[in-house]
Amino acid sequence: MDHRHSTASVRAVRMDTACPLCGSEGITTSQHRHSFYYGSGESAVELTVTLPVRRCDTCEFEYLDEVAERVKHEAVCEHFGVLSPGEIRHIRDYHRMTRAKFAQVTGLGEASLNRWENGINIQTQANDRYLRLLALPQNMRYLEDLAASDSLSPSISVPVQKRFRVLDLTHAKREEGRSFQLRKAA
Ligand SMILES: [Zn+2]
Repeated sequence: MDHRHSTASVRAVRMDTACPLCGSEGITTSQHRHSFYYGSGESAVELTVTLPVRRCDTCEFEYLDEVAERVKHEAVCEHFGVLSPGEIRHIRDYHRMTRAKFAQVTGLGEASLNRWENGINIQTQANDRYLRLLALPQNMRYLEDLAASDSLSPSISVPVQKRFRVLDLTHAKREEGRSFQLRKAA
């Protein structure tokens, strides 16, 4: 049974890695050490990774696919000490939330989340720290409660207006008090 399962997964991998030149599904993968630069100018860093290099058995074309891109992206994330796309997705999966729901509760942009989870962009350090806090269930529960109460109030500007009203009231009372004192003195 185990043998059949592994044969099936090998076939699936071959299907996914059809040669981009001739379309042949006969692909051989070998692991190669590879160094690359990330960033530009003085902030550029050299990183070394092991990448799966695909080679077409039919036309002998050698190429790197999205798996190699993912390995490189993960190395960059590790270098900068930020969560990898898989780790971010894992946090969201852990809370059993869709991207839309996660965005609504956390205030993060759904498009940003999509880019981080797919390795198109790397989150800022502040957002990385925020995502780490979101991994803690009690923090997520707190934000869920907040999001639930938010939906009851018509807009964010309401508390701001209230605050100004309080200031106005204080000012008005002070004026009132002053005029009272003046009247008393007269
Ligand atoms: Zn080929």
